Amino acid sequence: MIELPETYVLSEQINQALIGKTVRNATANAHPHAFAWYTGDPSAYHAKLSGKKVTSSNPGTGYTCGGNTEIICEDMLLVLSTPVKYHAPGEKLPAKHQLLLEFEDFSHMSCTVQMWGCMFCFPFAENGLPDEFVCNKSPDPLTAAFDEAYFDTLWRGTKQSLSAKAFLATEQRIPGLGNGVLQDILWNAKIHPKRKLQTINDAEKESMFHSVKATLFAMRMQGGRDTERDLFGCKGGYKTILSANTLKNPCPTCGGSLVREAYLGGNIYYCPVCQPMRGAN
Ligand SMILES: [Zn+2]
Repeated sequence: MIELPETYVLSEQINQALIGKTVRNATANAHPHAFAWYTGDPSAYHAKLSGKKVTSSNPGTGYTCGGNTEIICEDMLLVLSTPVKYHAPGEKLPAKHQLLLEFEDFSHMSCTVQMWGCMFCFPFAENGLPDEFVCNKSPDPLTAAFDEAYFDTLWRGTKQSLSAKAFLATEQRIPGLGNGVLQDILWNAKIHPKRKLQTINDAEKESMFHSVKATLFAMRMQGGRDTERDLFGCKGGYKTILSANTLKNPCPTCGGSLVREAYLGGNIYYCPVCQPMRGAN
């Protein structure tokens, strides 16, 4: 899944590099993947997209609800939850891909599924999405609409026995906030990922809210995380504090060892000193 900062970066780069290019060939499902999802028959993608110009791109909060990059090709809307790569004319293409657009100038754009990925292609309705596409739109944490009052509403609507990770990064409660960006958000807020909401006091909750906004903003402004690659295959400029890249490093605050463990369908990383469990459990 693409997370919020990277989908901002991808859509900004698509808006700079791909606008006005006309699709010559669209190839979907060339290398079938068990967890690649399309709308309808992938072999119909060529008919849907060929001859169409790329007209704009949004982060996944434009028409859908985060964790996607949206690309509009005249009257078609692509909703992509995979990484998206640009290939200049003559540049080597990926050995395996699940969606490949060839443009009239012989440049390409490819999507390759990692664990799973959607590559939806819809006729662009008045509001972007066809009626049958159900999407609960909710405020994007990088916009002013995601304010402390809204965060409180989310908090009050959540079972207080859930953990901080479950609250922030599951159920698509917050669009585009997944397990990747979660780690630094909680480290910055000094909250252990397994702490139950009911053990978190008002000051800590406020700190969590500010960390959601500020951490995602920093990741977006610095071109995405250094664990992810952008449209041109370059790693992002945001240096992750907690990720597979940094596990062996000391905690930047206390100098102690960082911890990685599996929890709720993905690894969590934390500093047991700076993010104590306190009275939880
Ligand atoms: Zn520490």
